[in-house]
Amino acid sequence: MKHSYDQLNTQELKTILDGLMTEYNGYIEKNLALDMSRGKPNGEQLDLAMGMLDTVSSTLGVTSSSGVDCRNYGNLEGVPEVRTMLAAMLEVAEDEIMIGGNSSLNLMFDAVSRALTVGVYGSTRPWCKEKEIKFVCPSPGYDRHFAICEYFGITMIPVEMTSEGPDMDQVAALVNNDPAVKGMWCVPKYSNPTGVTYSLDVLNKMAALTPAANDFRIFYDNAYAIHGINDTDDKLEDLFKMLKDQGKEDMIFIFGSTSKISFAGAGISAMGASRNNIALTQKQLGIQTIGYDKIGQLMHARFFKDLGGLRSHMDKHGAIMEPKFVMVQKILAEELEGLEIATWTKPNGGYFICLDTLDGCAKKTVALCSKAGVKLTPAGATYPYGIDPRDKNIRIAPSYPSVAELSVATKLLTLATKITAIEYYLSK
Ligand code: PLP
Repeated sequence: MKHSYDQLNTQELKTILDGLMTEYNGYIEKNLALDMSRGKPNGEQLDLAMGMLDTVSSTLGVTSSSGVDCRNYGNLEGVPEVRTMLAAMLEVAEDEIMIGGNSSLNLMFDAVSRALTVGVYGSTRPWCKEKEIKFVCPSPGYDRHFAICEYFGITMIPVEMTSEGPDMDQVAALVNNDPAVKGMWCVPKYSNPTGVTYSLDVLNKMAALTPAANDFRIFYDNAYAIHGINDTDDKLEDLFKMLKDQGKEDMIFIFGSTSKISFAGAGISAMGASRNNIALTQKQLGIQTIGYDKIGQLMHARFFKDLGGLRSHMDKHGAIMEPKFVMVQKILAEELEGLEIATWTKPNGGYFICLDTLDGCAKKTVALCSKAGVKLTPAGATYPYGIDPRDKNIRIAPSYPSVAELSVATKLLTLATKITAIEYYLSK
């Protein structure tokens, strides 16, 4: 029978700590070198798409079935069959999407950059002309979104992530009243890092926003749109349609890519948006490039064919990911349940699990793991400016290590969580 640590007296806690430290020193002697820090696909997942490389050759040719000679300039908006496929993935119409290069993060960076320098559709002047620009940042969130804001000097306003998505009362209070709030980051499905999928209620409230800034944009990064890992794939309702129903379709930029479907370094990205937004973006991008890499697009079209092809490919990814998530969940439950020192998320997809320690314990826990050879995402990295106000959130990225490695790394993480929790209680 496990006792919650807050019920134990000092002597009992010290006795447990002695045992835990002996165990921890055993890990130090193992000289581990494991990495649970970044959400990268592992080699087995990348191997699933190797056949894509065989879809173009000098003999197979590089003319798409829609007749595009993919060797030549043109088709800035993307090869038609790829637009059809990714429009289905992002749930937009075929004239509401453009295909980019290999990185959706790049599209997001550029979208923010253009908004600052020339404005978005409907802006009366570039964002940079304002005294201050603010973005709503549901936190914990994706560190690279926050890095874009930091790079451009955009003030980030953290908003709490609940088990249903961002706290929409906080969001509405900011967006509806402050004209300096021009944007909001969202990862609506299998969110990075909590794994939460936004509920219908959250999406309804998002569609009901009445921004004080007439050129406010939701940066809706649907990076994990079809990335379920088990049979209970979460359903994300259609925010774009809800916005359209209210005549607010210009308020959203939707992003996605095949980075975690085909190859993380050589996938294709896409941006979905209203026809007004797409037309302006294409006009602006036409200054920057005559067209993106269409041979890569063609390979994707030939290999995956359509949304059905993408989905069945993602089932194979799920089969690789599921045992890893199951292993992490099993160890977290076996080691931490009942101690009342941590909570964690149980996502049905995506790339991450979040572990919340007692307040003030995340940094120390990550440092203990690092000293014993297990690298985790730095504590705080998932918050604006790298500051987790309660120092409690730890991001676990199970994709890259093997199941056996994950078992060792997660056990060490739970051990470190227990050690820091006892130190917390002893210091009180
Ligand atoms: N968006 C989110 C939420 C991510 O987690 C990641 C990668 O981890 C990306 C975007 C990067 O996407 P891309 O490879 O298309 O730039």
